[in-house]
Amino acid sequence: MGNPNRCSVIIVGAGISGISAAKVLTENGVDDVVILEATDRIGGRIRKEEFGGVTVELGAGWIAGVGGKQSNPVWELAHQSNLRTILSDYSNARYNIYDHSGKIFPSGIAADSYKKAVDSAIQKLRNQESNVVDDDDEDDDDSILSETTPTQKTPIELAIDFVLHDFEMAEVEPISTYVDFGEREYLVADERGYEYLLYKMAESFLDTSEGKILDSRLQLNKVVGEIQQSRNGVLVKTEDGCFYEANYVILSASIGVLQSQLISFLPPLPRWKTEAILNCEVMVYTKIFLKFPYKFWPCGPDKEFFIYAYHRRGYYTFWQHMENAYPGCDILVVTLTNEESKRIEAQTDEETMKEAMEVLRNMFGPEIPDAIDILVPRWWNNPFQRGSYTNYPIYVNQQLLRNIKAPVERIFFTGEHTSEKFSGYVHGGYLSGIETSKALLEEIRKENERKTEGQAFLIEKKLNILLYNTVVI
Ligand SMILES: Cc1cc2nc3c(=O)[nH]c(=O)nc-3n(C[C@H](O)[C@H](O)[C@H](O)COP(=O)(O)OP(=O)(O)OC[C@H]3O[C@@H](n4cnc5c(N)ncnc54)[C@H](O)[C@@H]3O)c2cc1C
Repeated sequence: MGNPNRCSVIIVGAGISGISAAKVLTENGVDDVVILEATDRIGGRIRKEEFGGVTVELGAGWIAGVGGKQSNPVWELAHQSNLRTILSDYSNARYNIYDHSGKIFPSGIAADSYKKAVDSAIQKLRNQESNVVDDDDEDDDDSILSETTPTQKTPIELAIDFVLHDFEMAEVEPISTYVDFGEREYLVADERGYEYLLYKMAESFLDTSEGKILDSRLQLNKVVGEIQQSRNGVLVKTEDGCFYEANYVILSASIGVLQSQLISFLPPLPRWKTEAILNCEVMVYTKIFLKFPYKFWPCGPDKEFFIYAYHRRGYYTFWQHMENAYPGCDILVVTLTNEESKRIEAQTDEETMKEAMEVLRNMFGPEIPDAIDILVPRWWNNPFQRGSYTNYPIYVNQQLLRNIKAPVERIFFTGEHTSEKFSGYVHGGYLSGIETSKALLEEIRKENERKTEGQAFLIEKKLNILLYNTVVI
């Protein structure tokens, strides 16, 4: 106390959860907040980049969960901002499965394999459900959802397994996003990028001019390295040697960052918290963009997604052409996950391009042109991300979730990983920010109440002493 630079709340991270948390606080009268963001921009895992003449999304690309009974709040934000979006129909992918020699699997075989894979995944889930011991004191068996040994499956089965589990799981699992908000997914295809939603949100409570945020409450290039807390407040240190004091902290860094120990805590976080953080599985999801001099792949909406069936699971399996999003852009996207993502992050982009070209030549023949550009995001090696999103198993240990989310004294945790229903999604991040700030506002209210009661008690005590002295005199 006493420091004029002390603010009410420091928010670490300016991704969607940090920005939505700050917005709720300022709307509720707590406007002396400071947002410390490690990078030179807001948005976090919502990030656009210019590539091949268009805007591509390196992180979140879709608004998932649209068309249901309830409205997805991110879909509403997109509407308010007039964001350009394109409906994605993944279901056509199953009819565009290529084998190693470039033949498309006949639709009957593909449909049968698909049905078999879905049925077997559902069966595994049922087994898992019946194995789950209620209330969480047993370790999670998330191995049930992991793939079986590759050798047991044919290339088409491996490819479908990959698509179902690493990409699109709605047909297997009752995912809250689809149950609550609907099953449609819209690809953001807007030159302003998905991140435009964040700027619009920030604009409503931070000072801006000509599309730039010029408010000292947002501090960019501030890498938080240490958070100290005492009974009375928090002290946050950034790597450039600055100190910030506040009554509370909202920490929105991803679970991968929390696992990485980029931020140290004094006193250290309690064991229940560190264990929960370490037990959380982080998914790496990488979209590789390839630009070509001209297109050589089949076009049309029902050809947007295609699959490469290969004996190595997840090896350049899932492809998308970007003609529906940006006609004439001549860009393909291939999605890799987890170990394959980590592998390609560790090699040069030229090596990755070579591998991708070999796969494309297997599918479309030796005559196709070389790609003229490649873009490989590195979410795993990004020290401020360390992965793409959390991957809670469907029958998640509820105590784990509660512990991930629970505050530790004056440090409140937010971000997609703290969302019980929508972890892994943009709307999960958005809603978690709102929820965390509401919980913090309640805590502030209680603290104020305690202070007022304490002060009233002191005044009463002083009055009693005064009265006693007067009577004695
Ligand atoms: C490749 C990829 C594809 C995805 N696809 C989709 C999709 O299609 N649809 C969908 O809904 N979701 C998707 N997601 C998930 C979605 O992007 C995230 O769930 C959401 O953006 C997370 O927001 P957040 O605020 O929780 O975290 P973040 O966006 O990570 O924000 C946290 C912020 O904290 C900052 N930070 C970290 N450490 C520090 C520190 N020490 N000091 C200061 N600042 C720090 C980071 O720089 C970051 O800006 C995808 C994610 C990725 C990576």
